[in-house]
Amino acid sequence: MSALPENANRPAPTTSAVPGRITTDVLLVGAGIMSATLGSLIRSLEPDWSITMLERLDGPALESSDPWNNAGTGHAALCELNYTPQLADGSVDVSKAITVNEQFQLSRQFWANCVDNGVLHDPSSFINAVPHVSFVQGRENAEYLRKRHDALSASPLFEGIEYVDDRDEFARRLPLMAAGRDESETVALNWSENGTDVDFGSLSSQFVGHLARSGADIRYGHQVKNVTRDTDGTWRVKVKDTRTGEKIMISAKFVFVGAGGGAIQLLQKSGIPEIRGFAGFPVSGQFLRCLDEDIATQHEAKVYGMAAVGAPPMSVPHLDTRVIDGHRSLLFGPYAGWTPKFLKEGSFTDLPLSIRPHNLMPMAGVGVTSWSLIKYLVTEVLKTQRKKVDALQVFAPLAEADDWELITAGQRVQVVRKKGRGGALEFGTTVINSADGSIAGLLGASPGASTAVAAMLDVLERCFSDRIESWRPQLKELVPSYGTPLQDNPSLLADLRSWTDRSLGLVPPA
Ligand SMILES: Cc1cc2nc3c(=O)[nH]c(=O)nc-3n(C[C@H](O)[C@H](O)[C@H](O)COP(=O)(O)OP(=O)(O)OC[C@H]3O[C@@H](n4cnc5c(N)ncnc54)[C@H](O)[C@@H]3O)c2cc1C
Repeated sequence: MSALPENANRPAPTTSAVPGRITTDVLLVGAGIMSATLGSLIRSLEPDWSITMLERLDGPALESSDPWNNAGTGHAALCELNYTPQLADGSVDVSKAITVNEQFQLSRQFWANCVDNGVLHDPSSFINAVPHVSFVQGRENAEYLRKRHDALSASPLFEGIEYVDDRDEFARRLPLMAAGRDESETVALNWSENGTDVDFGSLSSQFVGHLARSGADIRYGHQVKNVTRDTDGTWRVKVKDTRTGEKIMISAKFVFVGAGGGAIQLLQKSGIPEIRGFAGFPVSGQFLRCLDEDIATQHEAKVYGMAAVGAPPMSVPHLDTRVIDGHRSLLFGPYAGWTPKFLKEGSFTDLPLSIRPHNLMPMAGVGVTSWSLIKYLVTEVLKTQRKKVDALQVFAPLAEADDWELITAGQRVQVVRKKGRGGALEFGTTVINSADGSIAGLLGASPGASTAVAAMLDVLERCFSDRIESWRPQLKELVPSYGTPLQDNPSLLADLRSWTDRSLGLVPPA
């Protein structure tokens, strides 16, 4: 594995003769997991490029990548039932699950490489082994889970997945969920030991720290206000220092808009035609959190249930072990909420100001066709604390309200895309880039941070098509399964799994 170089001799962005004007090769907007990952990949591929990162808040990963703003599930499609739909003929389609799992393998490899080379330290500070479990109630759903197990077992990516419907075994594995449960109820599980809990905040901070130590200019409290193209094809980026009010102009050859929910507005300002027809629909979230370690030790798994009718896929209820700053706790949710803000620390004008003539019809179209989502959101927003605890008790029947506190999670901005004369609401992520590859940004939130490496490799392929072939050998060192489907290479998968497990501390030392 090649080392990611770290020394002080890297080119710093240059301050030009014009006061307040900076020139940089790469400008990363936002200090969340996406910009942090892309910056680290680029630092490794092109050590001599100057990198500038601008973050409007006072530190890295304070929006969606903060550990309490997301659920920390290392999404590998081991437990999320929305990736394995049942088809009309009764069979279970696992193609999406295979894609998501392959993407997560890329993240594991990059992180393991970074641990081996000292870029990331103490893997337990950002990743921990936690079983991933799918949970259903009722005979019909149990039958679906049995079929899902059989379909996934055929893939080496899901090796070891189990189907459990024995009540004693259920109680042995999930004591908190078994206590107080009606004995006559049919319950069933798909159980995978290969799951993880990931602290994406810690991961982002460590990557940003590495970038800073290797010469990148990292500026907090710096908000990008405008992005326009200069006559020479570079990007002129207007920035405000939110602490002093000072205005700065940055000239960048390549801009990555890793601004999370704020990406759509900045891409609109850039004027690139590729953003036309896109809009954003914000959905906020809340979790119930239990910090009592005595209760937390009674549940060691991330258990995903089934989505309510009309609910968007990311609203599937789940009861999760979290490991944050060395402490074990539990999280349940999410409960959906609604605000027009595109960021947790955003503005109420975010949604109205993002409506343009080109995305008006897609937005109106979604309003007409997504009644079940709107109905679901209204029901969720009106849910009382008692109803929220009722939902938790479907998972943990004896849970007591006093042991749990309600917290506000991060803001998701779902992608609305032009479709026909109207629009379609999407729940995945979409990379938008200009035709010449000089600017790109990421819209959407699922599978999210877990697949940051796959998403950022996609950005590199789209924006640096003239260099990607010369980078390929190095990319294969950083991420050995890059370009090679592991589904079709079980022996390579086994080798990489045992290396990543070892480097990431996911198996006890032999
Ligand atoms: C409730 C919830 C649960 C989730 N659960 C999971 C999960 O279990 N697993 C998973 O993998 N993913 C999950 N996700 C998704 C995941 O959190 C996101 O995909 C990921 O964190 C996005 O990273 P990012 O870097 O794009 O954005 P962010 O982490 O939001 O970072 C964007 C940064 O850009 C900054 N910024 C914005 N505008 C500007 C500007 N104009 N100038 C300067 N800086 C700016 C922001 O302040 C912010 O720090 C979840 C998300 C939510 C909301």
